[in-house]
Amino acid sequence: MEKETIAAIATGLSDSGVGIIRISGDEALNIGLRLFKFKNNKISGENIESHKMYYGNVIDSFLDKVVDEALFVYMKSPKSYTGEDVVEIQCHGGVFVMKKILELVIKQGARMAEPGEFTKRAFLNNKLDLSRAEAVMDLIHSSNEMALKSSVSQLRGDLSLKIRDLREKLIYEIAFIESALDDPEHISLDGYSEDLRDKLNNIIKELNKLINSATDGRLIKEGIKTVIVGKPNAGKSSLLNALIGEDRAIVTDIAGTTRDTLEETFRCKDITLNIIDTAGIRDTDDFVERIGVDKAKKFAADADLVLYVVDSSVSLDNNDKDIIEVIKDKKTIVLLNKSDLDTLVSETEIKELLNDDTVIIKTSAKESVGLDELEKCIEDMFFSGIINSNSEIVITNMRHKEALMEALSSLNLVCGSIDSGLPEDFYSIDLMSAYASLGRIIGEAVEDDLVENIFSKFCMGK
Ligand code: GDP
Repeated sequence: MEKETIAAIATGLSDSGVGIIRISGDEALNIGLRLFKFKNNKISGENIESHKMYYGNVIDSFLDKVVDEALFVYMKSPKSYTGEDVVEIQCHGGVFVMKKILELVIKQGARMAEPGEFTKRAFLNNKLDLSRAEAVMDLIHSSNEMALKSSVSQLRGDLSLKIRDLREKLIYEIAFIESALDDPEHISLDGYSEDLRDKLNNIIKELNKLINSATDGRLIKEGIKTVIVGKPNAGKSSLLNALIGEDRAIVTDIAGTTRDTLEETFRCKDITLNIIDTAGIRDTDDFVERIGVDKAKKFAADADLVLYVVDSSVSLDNNDKDIIEVIKDKKTIVLLNKSDLDTLVSETEIKELLNDDTVIIKTSAKESVGLDELEKCIEDMFFSGIINSNSEIVITNMRHKEALMEALSSLNLVCGSIDSGLPEDFYSIDLMSAYASLGRIIGEAVEDDLVENIFSKFCMGK
């Protein structure tokens, strides 16, 4: 089926120096030629060279008007991003101009591309595998340095390589079992189970490592879910304001003003923090406030990090004990706030209530004291591991994590079969499912390569 030719503005939709309109499909060149007048008037559809930049004007041929001065690049199939014929028009980057040119392209017969459609075509034309195609999307959406690095690594194909390597190992075993069962005279399965058990242990180790990296992956991609808790008036809102540098949270002297929860995104070093400011956790008869309190408890339960703000100018009381009860198993940083005033709460007191390793920082939200130390502390807590293991593959995609977990559980079944002494033909099905689950990560179908592999790896000799 002949695919429609699609077009879109490939650069951001904001005024900038240069903008690119991308056209992809069989008609890309014809459409491009209809709205472009080359400065060198000898250039035409007949003699235009691929991957060369041409200078000229974008023309509204309906009104016979010059729209912009631009550069024209033709990338002949299959040597293009999508694998199809692609034309890119590099024009001035004003939003109005880019839209105008896109409109002309559409008038000349292209259709507006859907989000991700260029990348989808690249995938369908085998230019990218699925995990790399996803990396392109993540790259576009990365909101911080870490997320960017990890999508670049995925785009480079680090994950695909790893998955291919694991699948290669599995298919070898599947092929071996099948061949041995087919041809027992020439291929022996004596002692094979123990051998396979060892190999599977190694693969399982690698899968576990990838799966465990998904927690870091989520933090990188979505940010650290951070909850600020503390009694009313401890300075939670002030602290949030001091961190994000604007007066978003409502600060008052009346206890319990932060009734509902506020969510703010804050860039800490290379990483995003999603901070939820909650109403003070405390027992209350006030219905509205109770909702806030319950929410705080709920948010604290699934937070990656809890910032516990203590008003150090007043003594700890039972409310603090209740809060500590909620947060005691979480990664917590205690902020002894209002350090600019006389302090009545000591670090020792806090450590007695939480534990000796509790991280405690003296802050003054009012005078912006201790905030740098807080950022440094968060970075050490979460990212020293990731930063050090820059070359490691980090799973940032839920779909990948699920597929890895399925593969893992299939391999555990194989190990179970081996341990209970079942014959070899029992292993194949689960090995096969593990192989298929991993294949889903890179978007590869199972059947084609299985047959090919069995016959290419082992000469059946007949
Ligand atoms: P929340 O109820 O925990 O959100 O507390 P707020 O942020 O609304 O602060 C309560 C009161 O404490 C306000 O009057 C703030 O100006 C004051 N406050 C907050 N942080 C500090 C601080 O570090 N030092 C001093 N002296 N006052 C503070």
